Amino acid sequence: AVNRTPLIAGNWKMNLDHLQAIAFVQKLAWGLKDANHDFTAVEVAVFPPFTDLRSVQTLVSADKLPLAYGAQDVSAHDSGAYTGEISGAFLAQLECQYVIIGHSERRTLHREDDDQVQAKVQAALKHNLVPVICVGESADDLEKHGPSAVPVAQLRAALAGVDAAADIVVAYEPVWAIGSGKAATPEQAEQVAAQLRAVLADMLGQDVAAKTRILYGGSVKADNILGFMREPNVDGALVGGASLDLTEFANIVRFQK
Ligand code: PEP
Repeated sequence: AVNRTPLIAGNWKMNLDHLQAIAFVQKLAWGLKDANHDFTAVEVAVFPPFTDLRSVQTLVSADKLPLAYGAQDVSAHDSGAYTGEISGAFLAQLECQYVIIGHSERRTLHREDDDQVQAKVQAALKHNLVPVICVGESADDLEKHGPSAVPVAQLRAALAGVDAAADIVVAYEPVWAIGSGKAATPEQAEQVAAQLRAVLADMLGQDVAAKTRILYGGSVKADNILGFMREPNVDGALVGGASLDLTEFANIVRFQK
């Protein structure tokens, strides 16, 4: 992660209502402050459900908490007859900095394809949200095509039409490692992250490739984070289950300690 500020991001999925979110964010921020966490050295972001975002915004701005936050999805459209969708304009209004796009649960449970992911990346950038573009192979893909082919193809599709000046984050999340307790090895994560960085260099140029953060996600815990963070092309983690446990998540953030 040479010259790139690590990002530890917590994807809460459909957990914690807005009242629980307020308590959790308050405890997380103050716990990390008490432990003298340097938020400029390791950035921390949370991704609560949509209905929590207004409360998180109010808390973060009132208490000037050094936490970033974002949504778990965004509509490809700005406004109109799209029942149940959330516009990037609304997220920007709530001062979200990031938005997760193409999480494997969206791709599988909601049948999101590469074209939709691409459109959502465009929508995020239009509203000045940093897309956290998730890519990763299933166990079946891994067996048939090896580890890199599917994530590389997904990233290429997601980046089509993206301007070289765009600020993005990439998350490599092997589907077989998500929620399974069976994380990739640091070497496996590094191998794919290096391939993804090569895609960034090819499509957006060397400078963008050098500055863009690539996260690893899939059963990250406090006791395995350090191995990933030691890899040169891994710049942080997207954490699911373990991001809901205050102590565990704080210890992931404090991986250097
Ligand atoms: C995720 O859903 O992005 C994820 C990585 O989940 P977990 O950490 O629970 O494997």
